[in-house]
Amino acid sequence: MLVYKFGGASVKDVAGVKNVAEIIRMANQPLVVVVSAMGKMTNALEVLVEKFVNREDTAHVLDEIKQYHLQIIDGLWGTRSSPFLDNFYTYFSKLENKLKHTPSLNYDYDYDRIVSYGELLSTSIVSAWLTQTGFNNQWIDAREILRTSNDFREGRILWELSEKLVKEKITFGNCNTYITQGFIGSTVNNQTTTLGREGSDYTAATFGHLLDAESVTVWKDVPGVYNADPRWFPNPELIPEMSFREAIELAFYGATVLHPKTMKPLQNKRIPLFIKSFVEPSLPGTRVHNEVPMQKVLPIFIRKQNQALVSIAPLDFSFIVENNLRDIFDIFTEHRVKVNLMQNSAMSFSVAINYDQRRFEPMMDLLKQKYKVTYNLDAELLTIRHYTPEVVQQYTGHCHILVEQRSRNTANFLYKNE
Ligand code: ADP
Ligand code: ASP
Ligand code: MG
Repeated sequence: MLVYKFGGASVKDVAGVKNVAEIIRMANQPLVVVVSAMGKMTNALEVLVEKFVNREDTAHVLDEIKQYHLQIIDGLWGTRSSPFLDNFYTYFSKLENKLKHTPSLNYDYDYDRIVSYGELLSTSIVSAWLTQTGFNNQWIDAREILRTSNDFREGRILWELSEKLVKEKITFGNCNTYITQGFIGSTVNNQTTTLGREGSDYTAATFGHLLDAESVTVWKDVPGVYNADPRWFPNPELIPEMSFREAIELAFYGATVLHPKTMKPLQNKRIPLFIKSFVEPSLPGTRVHNEVPMQKVLPIFIRKQNQALVSIAPLDFSFIVENNLRDIFDIFTEHRVKVNLMQNSAMSFSVAINYDQRRFEPMMDLLKQKYKVTYNLDAELLTIRHYTPEVVQQYTGHCHILVEQRSRNTANFLYKNE
């Protein structure tokens, strides 16, 4: 069996949904299809959550979300009432009902309960459209089979339990194609969780692992993995094959084409991962696998925006030593802060972290109780894998660099975004 994953860009409009249905039809094999929320619906749902928890009026944003989906339904069916769409309307009412409750005091919990609807709605439409066009498929609520820890907004898969549930549900008995949601799961107490933004790639890899797939394909708006993001890098080169190791490094440093957790479940079972274009499905794309022969490697560029550089020093002119570091990392872990770069000297420890206002301020308050803390916002982290001195000069010569680090294969530059 195969696993296919379609992200938001692939199902952002009527033509997109039709195209995805066509790619599914062409697979001609037992298939599990993982689909994300349509277009930018996850961002819209995040705005909805923000209004909900602040007890502001949610009607306007909710209506925008509704109209977006209805417009796709109109374009596909030419009518809004079809028995195949019952699932869609049921889930939309459930979302409306959630907003009638009062917010809990746990933002992450409320976030998952609401933002998960993006995927529930999109998969309802895709599955209904396949059925409408005569393609037998079964819609599955991923929350019934992918169980996670209670870490809302960052659910960790409970592998043994999920394996049992997935294998009970996905049997390929009467049906060759299952349609399910990326990004979402639930706790053992049936509370909805999400796996972190862009987590649908990870869902696809999880199904691939649990069902021993022959391969997993993530269908993207690019023909594969390039040596840099084509949105900012002129004339990037496509990489036809790469090792899991290389793919993990790229995703870790911020190449948004793959979620960083995608590789491990596949690498562990030697299941190849394909990154292919939903615009030109016949192109070979990039193949990520275990046995990549040694080859000449291109420099690869990865840019991570919205970084904060935080420098921490003891209040009393003492050294930064192991017990301070343990204490500092406990604070990072507690606030779920992701550290992308670290550097220390005798009396100070500096880190580049992803800036998330909701987590940053409480973390800083705690750090300041014990340390002298300074910070710099709006920094950017440029990582160059397989760098050469010429390439480094070309791409960083003009930057105001705050921190620089080089290992044998990787150079990192944190610079201020002017
Ligand atoms: P999805 O639809 O699955 O959510 P994304 O939009 O998250 O897909 O990922 C595809 C995007 O990733 C591309 O449009 C591209 O701009 C960006 N990207 C970043 N780094 C790379 C890279 N090295 N190669 C290809 N695409 C990249
Ligand atoms: N819809 C979610 C997001 O936009 C998950 C995903 O697309 O992978 O983050
Ligand atoms: Mg995405």
